[in-house]
Amino acid sequence: MDTENIWQRCAAYIEERVGAALFKLWFEQLRVVRVEEDRVLLRAPNKFYVEWLNDNYLELLNDAFEEILFKAVNIDLFADTDSGDKVLGSEDILRAELLSIGKDSSGKPQGAVKGVVKGINLRYTFENFVVGPSNQFARAAALAVGDSVGKTYNPLFIYGDVGLGKTHIIHAIGNRVVQKNKKASVIYVTTEQFTNEVVTSIRHEKMSELKQRYRNVDILLIDDIQFIANKVQTQEEFFHTFNALYEKQKQIVLSSDRPPKELGDITDRLKSRFSMGLIADVQPPGVELKMAILQNKAETHGVKLPSEVAYYLATRIRSNIRELEGCLTKLAAHASISGEPITQMLAHEVLKDVFQDDETPINMDGILKIVCEYYGVSITDIKAKKRTKDVTVPRQVAMYLARELTEMSLIDVGKNFGGKDHATVIYACNKVEEKIKEDENFKRTIEKLRNRIKP
Ligand code: ADP
Ligand code: MG
Repeated sequence: MDTENIWQRCAAYIEERVGAALFKLWFEQLRVVRVEEDRVLLRAPNKFYVEWLNDNYLELLNDAFEEILFKAVNIDLFADTDSGDKVLGSEDILRAELLSIGKDSSGKPQGAVKGVVKGINLRYTFENFVVGPSNQFARAAALAVGDSVGKTYNPLFIYGDVGLGKTHIIHAIGNRVVQKNKKASVIYVTTEQFTNEVVTSIRHEKMSELKQRYRNVDILLIDDIQFIANKVQTQEEFFHTFNALYEKQKQIVLSSDRPPKELGDITDRLKSRFSMGLIADVQPPGVELKMAILQNKAETHGVKLPSEVAYYLATRIRSNIRELEGCLTKLAAHASISGEPITQMLAHEVLKDVFQDDETPINMDGILKIVCEYYGVSITDIKAKKRTKDVTVPRQVAMYLARELTEMSLIDVGKNFGGKDHATVIYACNKVEEKIKEDENFKRTIEKLRNRIKP
């Protein structure tokens, strides 16, 4: 099969799954440039395609090629305008360089493996992180940590809502550390990956290797630590990893969607360790910061974004920066296909699906979904009569928010929770109000939930 042939068959596979319209928009212009042993080079018209496809359709592309080639391959997308080295994947090259620095390390003090860099994404740096009032504290703390590893704040605990730049900041620390000290050992790992590694290591009796890997780094960056809740063995292992690193004055950086105190089912000894250093939060960005991020991104991609369109996007997207970027990407791709300039009209047209969500009225289902997601409890449990501690608070919060954000009566609210009477609902609302007055963290949680529910 030649490359053209391969692509035609993949294209058919894809079109069948996404439909003609989406196919025409995102896939029709792709071309297979080269098929290697375990890699396919795929050319897209511009960077926006590359980004959009990587974020949204990589799995589908993988499936398609696997189906046609009868084996799993890596898909390397690149933009038509990219220079030659990009084709080879400049990130891969850099990473390979970084790893090879690790290999020829001489003199390993105390058996430490020097210069191992794992999991760091070179795309996320301090240089391309736009600062505003909502994130400057976390950024400054991260910068301080990147500049004096293990000596300033240990651990650094960064928390904030989804899509506000936590992962970006954490990688930026890693990149900074490697830039300054080529011999530094840095590992970035998501809590999910760490959990999987623990489970696999236990199963294959490879725990000592896992210990060796994680306890000998200069800096451990661990993302989304809230997912360690309920994972007993992982917590146990992480506790010892934490202590080992801490004692050697090695740096630990954690991210989470909530402050340590509010982490669900996590042992107290871990929670208290998370609070030992500095806790920094990232708040939702204001309109100005959102505009600055958009302009910054547009500029690096060579796109003309009029400020009224930036303003339009910044006011329509509530807080999630990932969503904001997604909108710009989509908009720019449309503009480049149609050859039209980016205008507010085009933005309105292209993004109406994205914005539509904002106009749907608030109802009980929406509230329950967000509250349950946040507390990690199931909707069935919260609606049932059950009276255990872990559903009591979420249930009271859901009742409170339903009263505040909808027109529902006390009785109607109660009906959603296994037929509770109106007195129970009043009691719940009072409880929540009291707690809001007493506990600053709880107050913020309620605000956060309210923002997620309310457009
Ligand atoms: P989180 O981990 O908090 O969910 P991410 O770090 O994944 O969020 O950020 C989502 C996207 O927004 C990323 O592409 C990131 O680069 C971008 N982003 C977030 N904050 C900023 C910022 N201040 N400047 C530039 N890009 C940002
Ligand atoms: Mg993240």
